[in-house]
Parts: sequence; structure tokens; C-alpha cells
Amino acid sequence: MSNPTLRIGVLALQGDFEAHLKALNMAASQLGVEIEGIPVRLPRHLDEIDGIILPGGESTTIGKLMVEYGLDEILRRKIQTGVPFWGTCAGLILLAKETDNALAGQPLLASMDIRVRRNAFGSQRESFETNLSVPALGEAPFHAFFIRGPSIESVGPEVEVLATLDDGSIVAVRQGILLGTAFHPEVAAITGQQDPRFHHYFLRIVQSVNT
Ligand code: GLN
Repeated sequence: MSNPTLRIGVLALQGDFEAHLKALNMAASQLGVEIEGIPVRLPRHLDEIDGIILPGGESTTIGKLMVEYGLDEILRRKIQTGVPFWGTCAGLILLAKETDNALAGQPLLASMDIRVRRNAFGSQRESFETNLSVPALGEAPFHAFFIRGPSIESVGPEVEVLATLDDGSIVAVRQGILLGTAFHPEVAAITGQQDPRFHHYFLRIVQSVNT
């Protein structure tokens, strides 16, 4: 019996959505699953979607465009109806219930029980790469690219911490069908490391709610 095609939407308003679409294609061929990667710009692109990736970029810009294009309410509803979401970097900020700049009134999907601090590791010039221990992915460390990423300052009781930096900063979390990474796993998937394990991990969450 062949498996049905998984339809994975990647929010394509701003940021590095192309890298995620590419990583999804690579992950699909490695896993032997059929995946249709869908760049999401309009509400109709979210019809019959099985999973959604919110990419890195600029969370204030993505948030504003999300509201302008009439996507925010639909995205929230998708989460409520059990569609898995994965937010990377800016995408993680959009998933968070709370950020350190609440006063700025930044539009958020506000679904994950976490508080994030934007640009916690400094400016673009202070971007860094590090080998991260992520037990959920297996023993080999995951090479993580941090590009003006947030840190996760606190997590609610239902949130599982998947990875921390040596200084204790939380940088990867899961709350049921919601996955969040403060760094950019799509970079490790499509560049030198060719390591798609985080994409595999997310696809397995999507498969688990679709079987
Ligand atoms: N600093 C960005 C923000 O606050 C996130 C950066 C990224 O996604 N690489 O939205």
C-alpha cells in the first residue's frame, strides 16, 4: 500500500522559506515519503494541509504580513484543530505565547506555552554555529546555526525541552504537535552537513497525526 502524499505548507511571506522547501524535498526522498511542499501566501494555500513550517526571517514583518493577508486567524485555527506546526527562529517567536517586547504589540500566533527573548544572542555579527546535543534526534550532535535567534526564557509544564546550550539557554522545544527551534535546521539540511534530522523529526510528528 502506498502512503498518501503529505502536504507541508511553508509560510512564504518573508524569510528563508526556500531553504525549508528544499530541505523538505531532500528529507522526503531520504525517508521514502511523498511530500508536497507548498509555499503559503494566501488562505487558500492552507486548504487540506497536513503540517506547517514557519520559517526564520523577521518576526515583526512576517507577523504584520500574516495579518494583512488574512492568514493569522486561519493559522491559529489549524493549530487548534491539531495540525502540527514547526517554528524556526522568527517562526518560533510567532508560535510563542509571550515575547520580551509585548509592548510593541507584535502580532503572534501565541500558541506555545513559552516566553522568548528576541535577539538574545546579539546582532547579526554575533551569529554563531555550534554542535548541539539533541537526544530526540539520536546520539550524533546536531550542527546548529544561530542567526539573531531568540532564546526560550521559560516553558510551561506541557513543554518538553529538546536542547539547551552549554550556558543553559533553552533552544529547542516541543509541546505535543508544536515544535520550536531557536536556530536554523534547514541550513544544516541543505548545506555541508546535509543533516535533515530535524525535518525528519517534524515529518514523523505529521505522520503520527495522519495515521
Ligand atoms: N531576530 C529575528 C526576529 O526577532 C529572528 C531572526 C531569524 O529568524 N533568523 O524576528
